[in-house]
Amino acid sequence: MNSNKNNLTAALIVAAGRGHRFGGPLPKQYTDLGGKMVLNHTVSALLAHPDIDMVRCVIHPDDQSLYENAVSGLSILSPVSGGATRQDSVRLGLESLEDQNIDKILIHDGARPFVSLSVIDGVLDALNDHAGAVAALAVADTLKRGKDAKITQTVSRDGLWRAQTPQGFHLKDILAAHHKFAGEELTDDTQLFERLGLEVILTQGSHDNFKITTGEDLMRAENLLAHHTETRTGMGFDAHRFDKGDFVTLCGLEIPHDFGLKGHSDADVALHALTDALLGAIGAGDIGQHFPPSDAKWKGAKSDQFVQHATSLMRERGGEIINVDLTIICEAPKIGPHRESMVKSVANILGVDQHRVSVKATTTEGMGFTGRKEGIAAQAIATVRLKTLKA
Ligand code: MG
Repeated sequence: MNSNKNNLTAALIVAAGRGHRFGGPLPKQYTDLGGKMVLNHTVSALLAHPDIDMVRCVIHPDDQSLYENAVSGLSILSPVSGGATRQDSVRLGLESLEDQNIDKILIHDGARPFVSLSVIDGVLDALNDHAGAVAALAVADTLKRGKDAKITQTVSRDGLWRAQTPQGFHLKDILAAHHKFAGEELTDDTQLFERLGLEVILTQGSHDNFKITTGEDLMRAENLLAHHTETRTGMGFDAHRFDKGDFVTLCGLEIPHDFGLKGHSDADVALHALTDALLGAIGAGDIGQHFPPSDAKWKGAKSDQFVQHATSLMRERGGEIINVDLTIICEAPKIGPHRESMVKSVANILGVDQHRVSVKATTTEGMGFTGRKEGIAAQAIATVRLKTLKA
């Protein structure tokens, strides 16, 4: 996010509905889809677009805690509460984004998690020359009008489109339109522009960009997700030398010892190995590239921020952690008594359940530098589920 830039681009995700048509115990945007809530997929998809500077959701005030769960770890603006109708909700969301140097605004349904970069591109590009744009699909099926389950007419599909979201506008125009038509029943935002006689361009939507409304849609989404993700593994290794001191920092915890560990940061060898494993899984370089030891700002730094940085890079790519496995290699201190709290600490830093974290320890039976008690080494493996990148 670059707050100095003028003419920023924002996305407003409408997630204030209670999903009565869906029939499940939770509103559809908070339903689990492949281990994350539907809304998490949707927010991640918009955050992943390089031209979108900020994302905000409009939510139902009763859903605050569901929402916080859904977007945990994502860099998103704080949510605003919606109104009685979708139109009210959108207006409140738009008003909250005034005075932020925003030009282009995308309005998107919280329950359309598979919006692709190219669908977003189409809408944003059209806004360079036009007042509005909407992702849409030309109707392919033959259309029938019917009464009492009998055909009364074949309707020409010529020129008929199915409107999806995102729908894109220039913020000041769409806000003015919402104020002008406040209180009227309109089904989508482009309709406001139609009423004003403003041009709205139809851009290429996608069949995958469907809205999850029914249980059948959810099954379709699960199948699609299984075909759109891949599992990646990264490994990391690190070693730090013993130095004067009376504790070592391992997995974010200070463990009493006769020595400390020497390093530019807090020398948390386990978290350094873990950071490299996470970076490795997404092909994003290594810890030294992201946090150069030559930079004074990392002197004495707590290493949980290195792990958190790698984790947020992964999440920005739509990824999630399946599991991490750490091995700490030393003769002393004894790791066993601290293993449980280390698992807790690592799970907490990563923002995942403890069952996704393993911490193990071994010695090298007196051999090598760890055997001679010169220092501590650590290995880590991280397995993550990532969106498959389309060429
Ligand atoms: Mg290190």
